[in-house]
Amino acid sequence: MDASLSLPRVYPRQEHGISRSQINDNALKVMYRLRKAGYQAYLVGGCVRDLLLGREPKDFDVVTDAHPDQIKAVFRNCRLIGRRFRLAHVHFGREVIEVATFRALSTDEDDGSENGDRLTKNGRILRDNIYGTIEEDAWRRDFTVNALYYNIQDFSVVDYVGGMDDHKAGSLRLIGDPEQRYREDAVRMLRAVRFATKLGFVIHPACAEPLPRLAPLLAEIPAARLFDEVVKLFLSGYALQNFEQLRHYDLFHQLFPLTDEALSLQGEGYPLTFVAKALKNTDARVAENQPVAPYFLFAALLWEPVRIQAEAAIASGMHEIVAYQEAAADVTDEQADYTAYPRAISLAMRDVWQLQPRFNYRLGSRPLRLLSHPRFRAAYDFLLLRAETGSAEPELAEWWTQFQAADEAGQKAMAAGQKTGSTAASRKKRKPRRRGPSSRKSDVATDA
Ligand code: ATP
Ligand code: MG
Repeated sequence: MDASLSLPRVYPRQEHGISRSQINDNALKVMYRLRKAGYQAYLVGGCVRDLLLGREPKDFDVVTDAHPDQIKAVFRNCRLIGRRFRLAHVHFGREVIEVATFRALSTDEDDGSENGDRLTKNGRILRDNIYGTIEEDAWRRDFTVNALYYNIQDFSVVDYVGGMDDHKAGSLRLIGDPEQRYREDAVRMLRAVRFATKLGFVIHPACAEPLPRLAPLLAEIPAARLFDEVVKLFLSGYALQNFEQLRHYDLFHQLFPLTDEALSLQGEGYPLTFVAKALKNTDARVAENQPVAPYFLFAALLWEPVRIQAEAAIASGMHEIVAYQEAAADVTDEQADYTAYPRAISLAMRDVWQLQPRFNYRLGSRPLRLLSHPRFRAAYDFLLLRAETGSAEPELAEWWTQFQAADEAGQKAMAAGQKTGSTAASRKKRKPRRRGPSSRKSDVATDA
């Protein structure tokens, strides 16, 4: 074993709040078993950080000085994964505990590069797969509060980087020189925002200062990795705050340049309200453990560029259905250079956009056909959001709400242009329909 270069601060059991009852049983089993086989075993990273805050961690990551083959020899229910850097997965039914060997050097977890120099000329890390000591393992991590180790041997917390003090102060601080750490891996800039909002921590001034300046480094990050980060930023319950912080640090532009330009075109008017409302709804759903769909979120974030392009085409004479189809295709394509989404997501998001102008056609067979479209529900939710924030007539949304609730006869009557039918919908008290000048255009042009 390597001799350590510096002594860690060790916080014994009585000086921190982590108790074994908060720790996943299988993670405990894994650590005890490693210990019994003569190896070290610690919890590290997000789980230690979250346990110190009294929060339930997403997952429990174990680190050890045992090498992957040695880990495999200790557990029957163990599989080694990863080519570039091997990790052990210990299986307990459907649950998996990830066990990693201490690694040296700072790292770029998901870069996916297989070879090449370790650093590019800009200082970006491309490759690292060297086992190390616990101390080296600590220094390669990103934020001090992510580099705390819970030692199963004596239940202490081991701190090489001052993470405990930062944790107490609510300060999110990179280990080492901030600019260098961002240059090694620009995704750390997004992680800074994500952890600060999630934990309610303040980004240390020295780590906040370089953000707007270094934001363009995100252009070097593979678009597929940025997609993953965007999903974490916007689907984990802090979407609105992350949106505001990303804009504040000029990071948003690197992820959604089309949206950012569209928003600045409009000043602080309704498009911003639309995006903010969509993000707020997403956060509320996450808080209630309701499912949230990435495609809906992307559809909301990119709606304004789609709308602007489509409306410009309509103004120069294109049919609105075609205009929205073309704008949807173009924006999807362009955005894929920044956040490479899976095909299912781009198709679903395009459906949501393309169905928007179809809501304008309320006569004849078209409303029923729209109702049976597999993406109707999402498109309707999207319409509601537009109506709430001024980019669609509230009356239009209301019509569709009633149309869905109506029985067959009622739907027929509504599609025949009657205000009410002899239906459940008609029995509800309704405000008289207001005939706004802008909302009528499409009804005139229906195929009825
Ligand atoms: P979350 O609760 O979001 O999972 P986490 O801290 O567990 O937070 P992960 O992305 O799961 O974050 O990474 C686990 C640990 O690996 C981090 O706590 C950090 O120590 C280290 N790590 C992850 N990504 C990086 C990176 N880009 N650079 C350096 N260290 C990293
Ligand atoms: Mg994690």
